[in-house]
Amino acid sequence: MSINIWHPFTQHGLGEPIPEIARAQGAALYTADGTKIIDAISSWWVQTHGHCHPKIVAAIQEQSARLDQMIFAGWTHEPARKLAEGLSDFLPDSLEHIFFSDSGSTAVEVALKMALGYWHNRGETRQKILVMEHSYHGDTIGAMSVGARGVFNQAYAPLLFDVGTIAFPKAGSEQDTLDQLEDFCKNAENPPAALIVEPLILGAGGMKIYGAATLAKMAAICREHDLLFIADEVMTGWGRTGTIFACEQAGVEPDILCMAKGLTGGVIPLAVTAASDAIYQAHFSEDRAQMFFHSSSFTANPIACAAANANLAIWRDEPVQQRIDGIIASYRAFSDRLQRKSNISGLRQCGTILALEINDGAGDYMSDLGPKLLGFFRDRNILLRPLGNTIYIMPPYCITLEELTAIQAVIEEAIDHFGTS
Ligand SMILES: *Cc1c(COP(=O)(O)O)cnc(C)c1O
Repeated sequence: MSINIWHPFTQHGLGEPIPEIARAQGAALYTADGTKIIDAISSWWVQTHGHCHPKIVAAIQEQSARLDQMIFAGWTHEPARKLAEGLSDFLPDSLEHIFFSDSGSTAVEVALKMALGYWHNRGETRQKILVMEHSYHGDTIGAMSVGARGVFNQAYAPLLFDVGTIAFPKAGSEQDTLDQLEDFCKNAENPPAALIVEPLILGAGGMKIYGAATLAKMAAICREHDLLFIADEVMTGWGRTGTIFACEQAGVEPDILCMAKGLTGGVIPLAVTAASDAIYQAHFSEDRAQMFFHSSSFTANPIACAAANANLAIWRDEPVQQRIDGIIASYRAFSDRLQRKSNISGLRQCGTILALEINDGAGDYMSDLGPKLLGFFRDRNILLRPLGNTIYIMPPYCITLEELTAIQAVIEEAIDHFGTS
């Protein structure tokens, strides 16, 4: 008998090749025969400082030989304690409590459970979760429930819970979104428990961008109506949007903040759901029935925490912001050239993320252009994974100008090859 590997988000029936990678360094992956593939999407939005960063490698090696894994219910360890101390330099002051889990999806599940537990323990019936159109929060059932519905989750619809959806704040119609949020808040029969949003940019929903002013106004409406504001910074966190967290740009301090991907530099799984004191206090009691009922086997795995501590040290000790600024600067001339092309639309940028749509006449995620583009980039040794006809770059911050230039040239080639005006 032979066992086949079933890959994520992969239609094996299309017979696409699945290349094997042997090693990685910086912004590059290498096959066994030494072919270099430039990682233009940070290995699916996780890698921040580049592959096999020596400080993270050393932290993992050292920690794994000292304390590898242990129960975290009722026990603690130094890497977790250090990480809590370290995160206080990066998180807003109001987020005083951190809860560990192991992926972005679980960080979101934890956030939703915290929000519902908060209202439950206060004896108030607030259960409805508000979400933004086109959002993505993960692939587990709860995370799918608060994300966009579509072909991705049609089969599981019977399991998904009802939410209230506000429109994506398109440029020019931000007020409609804010009005819809107010309307939900004013519904006295079914007052919402929380609003969950991806701040500034919706990732899997198509790299859709909205302004910091709108983010700030949404948070203010939540505050006014006593509704919890959950920021899903799983993708936006750790520098992607130009600041450590996207909420900073709007001066927003959420009640709950989720982070995962870049927390360990994108090397091993670890997630944190940070919560305000009010959320924590709602679960703090002598009554065991009010504790926060959540755990997973690998909660706060010491090796993962050590990797996260190394990530924090890199942010403190290396010119990470300068690298980010360099990426942003490289986008300027590129954008000028793209602006002159008639066969693209929606050129936009948010920090280190640059996105555009190739005009192909169809244009959604299931458009046939997606797999064609994937193959086109694969053939040219660039790891890019368009969302339908949306091409985006989200590189690790260590990427060189030369590598960025190579990515940009291949994107221009793809536009000229596939785009229709
Ligand atoms: C990737 C992502 C998630 C899910 O994270 P996983 O680690 O893949 O479970 C949740 N929210 C956002 C905004 C994401 O981009």
